Amino acid sequence: MALAVCFGELLVDMVSDTADAALQEAPRFLKAPGGAPANVAVGLARLGVPTRFIGQVGDDPFGEWLRRIVAAADVDVSALLTSPTARTTIAFVATRSDGRKDICFYRNPGADAEIRPTDLNESMLEGARVFHCGSVSLSQSPSREAQLRAAEMAAARGLLISYDPNWRPSLWPDHNLAREIIWDMMPHCDVVKLADEEWEFITGTPDFASGAAKIRECGPRLVVVTRGADGAYYNCAGAQGEISSFKVNAVDTLGAGDAFVAGLLAQVLQRGSLDDVLNQEALDQIIRFSNACGAIATQKAGAIPALPTRAEVEQFLQKH
Ligand code: ADP
Repeated sequence: MALAVCFGELLVDMVSDTADAALQEAPRFLKAPGGAPANVAVGLARLGVPTRFIGQVGDDPFGEWLRRIVAAADVDVSALLTSPTARTTIAFVATRSDGRKDICFYRNPGADAEIRPTDLNESMLEGARVFHCGSVSLSQSPSREAQLRAAEMAAARGLLISYDPNWRPSLWPDHNLAREIIWDMMPHCDVVKLADEEWEFITGTPDFASGAAKIRECGPRLVVVTRGADGAYYNCAGAQGEISSFKVNAVDTLGAGDAFVAGLLAQVLQRGSLDDVLNQEALDQIIRFSNACGAIATQKAGAIPALPTRAEVEQFLQKH
């Protein structure tokens, strides 16, 4: 199957092990690999899609550890750079029982944000059919310019460009500017996935159909909104739909959105091209598959350990 390339942050999540404790009160943190585009890369690899990750860690024990984990998941790390100066980025995370997260980034500077446009080369995209990215890299320079450059290079090669803005308010001192920069990326993209919590902030409307129309007007052809336990909504020219998720015993929703994106992109690749799937029948099935990936990911703690293999998703779909 054709190769997917994910661009962005690979970092250490220090996750509080105490439910509903704010970061100020949390007494203990467990080290976990994190970064949404890196999770998507591992998710795609588990689903059988050859995947390469472009990003940067520090020349320190955490960077070494992250590189090992991503490589062990069969992701090609030949384009994962090591910064000689900046430390591997760390984020402290506390999760509330309603799924909300308190996040505090240690990134002043962080290696992920120090990747520069001049660090990129064409061989990093060699053989790729899909390019996936988020917005954490857009929140600082030079990674913002590097991501835009990578997306331009991907577009020039005719790759399918996928974007999960994954808005992290604490990374952006000016939220209006954040919205503008997040939108600057949209015209480069074919597929945009948003979570319902960030939908109104980004689109300016609570309504999925009119918000999706606004996104599609500037270029993307498929818009998907994930809605936690309620499943997902999709919208493309001539079709839209709401697909319920599956009833599961959710223990940790961390990484559910990334598992969903991996499922979506793996399905598009498997079925040919985006043009082949922009219809109700195909999208109903694809979003059902993606919901299954998300639902399975909520049943285990952590993001990377919870991302399902293709066999697990197929077995799950047969049972439900
Ligand atoms: P994000 O992690 O980006 O906030 P969501 O929490 O919306 O994304 O989850 C992504 C997808 O994972 C959902 O669209 C749904 O398919 C699945 N999912 C998430 N939480 C649950 C849950 N509690 N039960 C079943 N499926 C879930």
